[in-house]
Amino acid sequence: MTKYEWVKQEIESVLSEGPCEDRSDLDKFLEAVRNEGESLTRHGFFELIERHRPEDEDERDYFDYEFLDDHFYPEALDAAWSSPPPAKLPQVEVACSYKGKPLPSSFCQIGGEFKGIQSDSVPICKDCDTDMALLVQFATKDLDTGKEFPDLKGFKLFDAGNINVFRCPSCQTHEVTTDCY
Ligand SMILES: [Zn+2]
Repeated sequence: MTKYEWVKQEIESVLSEGPCEDRSDLDKFLEAVRNEGESLTRHGFFELIERHRPEDEDERDYFDYEFLDDHFYPEALDAAWSSPPPAKLPQVEVACSYKGKPLPSSFCQIGGEFKGIQSDSVPICKDCDTDMALLVQFATKDLDTGKEFPDLKGFKLFDAGNINVFRCPSCQTHEVTTDCY
C-alpha cells in the first residue's frame, strides 16, 4: 500500500466517525499527499496538514482538522512510514538548588525518556525525518514561585508549563517546544 492509499484509507475511517458537510478542501489535501508520492516524509505530511488547515476566521464549512490531529499522531504514521525506533540520550542525574535550597527534582531533566503534558510524542526532525531525542526539559509544575522560590518566576512558562529542547540523533538539528496544561 502506498502512503497516499494509506492516508486516504485512514481519512475515510475518520469520516465514517463524524459528519462533514464540505469535503472539497479535504480532497485538496489528499491531492497534495498524492502529488508528493512515496517521497513524502513524516515531517512533510504534518506540514501539509498545517498548510491546508483553514484560518480561525474562515467560517466556511470546513472539515474539522482537529480530527486529523487526533488521528495522525506521529506514532500512527509507523503504519506507512518505516522509521527506526526513537533514540534516547542517556539520562544524566541532576540535582538543582537555588541559594542552597534544593529545587524539585522534576525541574530539570537531561536526556532520558520524554514525558510531555499534552502528548509524549517527540518532534520529527525537519531536516532528515528522524525522531528527535530529549536533550533537556524544564518543568515548572512543582516549582513554587509563590513563596518558596519567588526569584525563579522567570523560569515559569505560564502557570506550570514545560520547555523542551530536542536534538536529532542523526543530524544534530535542534528544536525547542513548549507544552502547557
Ligand atoms: Zn535530523
